[in-house]
Amino acid sequence: MRRPGEMKTFRSEMPAPAGVGIGMIWVPEGSPIDVDVRLESVSEGVLATGTVSAGLVGECARCLTEVTDERDFELQDLYYYPGRPAEEDALFIVDEHIDLEQPMRDAIVLELPFIPLCREDCLGLCPECGFVLNDDPDHAHQAQVDPRWSALLELKDQVDHT
Ligand SMILES: [Zn+2]
Ligand SMILES: [Zn+2]
Repeated sequence: MRRPGEMKTFRSEMPAPAGVGIGMIWVPEGSPIDVDVRLESVSEGVLATGTVSAGLVGECARCLTEVTDERDFELQDLYYYPGRPAEEDALFIVDEHIDLEQPMRDAIVLELPFIPLCREDCLGLCPECGFVLNDDPDHAHQAQVDPRWSALLELKDQVDHT
């Protein structure tokens, strides 16, 4: 693929490397990542454009229950021919091969939500007992006993035990 304008597409599946994720959401190591890429020969090298599909696992930022999702991420990277002057973090074609790991990792990590939610309107946890409010939106606690009554209740308790 040395002539500008030449094109080639390929699909492949690869196991997720470790550490593809941020804080509360990530791609489990070893889970399959689908890569669908079009390679296009340009004068400086090869342009890779495509889609990466991965399964995500994480924790809802509000209610802490598990969140799973399947998402597509866009990728576009230029791989230079060896010896070409390029920026420091440029990608190169090595022995006629391109390594998609770093671009794939960046494509996913840059698009992950900082605050994953199990659903848009997640109700979160009860501030008093930690109950997951999505399970019962009517969850409520008994009103606090009036302090004047509680003094009487204590007295009653003492009376009952004598
Ligand atoms: Zn939630
Ligand atoms: Zn509660």
